[in-house]
Amino acid sequence: MSDMHYQNYIEKIVRDELKKAYERDKDLCTCDICFQDIMTLTLNQLPPMYVSSDIGHIMTMYNLTKDQLQAQVTVELQKAIDQVKKHPKH
Ligand SMILES: [Zn+2]
Repeated sequence: MSDMHYQNYIEKIVRDELKKAYERDKDLCTCDICFQDIMTLTLNQLPPMYVSSDIGHIMTMYNLTKDQLQAQVTVELQKAIDQVKKHPKH
């Protein structure tokens, strides 16, 4: 197992989407506290997906296409962003 690189694939998608959100939404605070907050809130709402390099296999296992997964991430990420904007922890 040690030669396989597992990562939470969902986390990667959320991270990428959040970067795009920062570019779209200039009111959104980009500090570490808010970043971690948004990541945690979003990831709590999504199933963890630890995958190897074989993404296709994992997607089949979860019966989700990448687009469906992306759509789910977008919805949960927006909720987390709204929440953090209303109640920043600083
Ligand atoms: Zn902040």
